[in-house]
Amino acid sequence: MPTLNALVTHRIDTAPGLMTLRVAPVGWALPAFRPGQFAVLGLPASAPRSVEAEPEDPPMPSETFLRRAYSIASSSREREYLEFYLVEVQSGALTPRLFALKPGDKLWLGPKFTGLFTLDEVPPDRHVAFIGTGTGLAPYMSMLRTHLERDGSRRLAVLHGARHSWDLGYRDELVQMQRLAPHFTYLPVLSRPEAELVPWTGATGRLPAYWADGALARAWGFRPSPADTHIFLCGNPGMLEAMQQQLEAEGFREHTRQAPGEIHLEKYW
Ligand SMILES: Cc1cc2nc3c(=O)[nH]c(=O)nc-3n(C[C@H](O)[C@H](O)[C@H](O)COP(=O)(O)OP(=O)(O)OC[C@H]3O[C@@H](n4cnc5c(N)ncnc54)[C@H](O)[C@@H]3O)c2cc1C
Repeated sequence: MPTLNALVTHRIDTAPGLMTLRVAPVGWALPAFRPGQFAVLGLPASAPRSVEAEPEDPPMPSETFLRRAYSIASSSREREYLEFYLVEVQSGALTPRLFALKPGDKLWLGPKFTGLFTLDEVPPDRHVAFIGTGTGLAPYMSMLRTHLERDGSRRLAVLHGARHSWDLGYRDELVQMQRLAPHFTYLPVLSRPEAELVPWTGATGRLPAYWADGALARAWGFRPSPADTHIFLCGNPGMLEAMQQQLEAEGFREHTRQAPGEIHLEKYW
């Protein structure tokens, strides 16, 4: 069983079942990482589950050690802790245990951070649209927190889809970024606006329809094309598939090392 080598330094519950969690290594230094990469968090099956979680039936064998990948949301310039943006899957194995953690509690943090979902292969003169559902915003927060102020020569945009306004994590920070950085656009879109307590005057619907409707083209004043823009897609596999189809019809191509393109994908499940 791996040693629990990290601890929770900070936890913010942004909405029911959604939190940001900061994790610091104990007795070792965080290695460098590229914004957009992910780490692995782990806990033993013997760790308690949150009170909201569904009971595990049958109980998981106590010798099981649970590990899952999580995109890093903090800046790569932050050397003391990593921040994660997490949703609780109430029937899940690891997240109910992560949602039972409080500051000071220990967990396992894999010592290597990896992933190709970064800006490294995007030419510096291309605009970038970051499109994500739910916690698929996490890698974009790391990229923006690291690059926004230095990246003033191209346009950057976040299109974030969530059910409710209270599920729009990092909204205040993204609104603030938009105020301070004229080259950055924040476009939140809600899929269940009828449940809002205060009427929602922003965009509604699903991200692929929102894109097809020209939301970003209106905000930028020109229609993004494969010649000038790279697109990042992260989160729910249904959204990724629908967006990829939509973008391919517009001439964008998936990026791979062997065949460079303009669509970068990170599928969470
Ligand atoms: C590269 C990578 C990065 C990831 N980064 C994040 C992250 O930053 N934040 C995060 O919350 N999750 C992230 N995930 C998902 C994470 O690894 C786990 O799959 C998730 O936390 C569920 O784990 P679990 O053990 O509780 O559920 P499991 O028992 O493993 O059940 C898995 C099921 O949970 C559901 N599920 C998984 N992830 C999500 C999600 N994010 N939102 C809604 N439903 C989900 C799906 O139905 C999936 O089939 C990432 C996955 C990958 C591959």
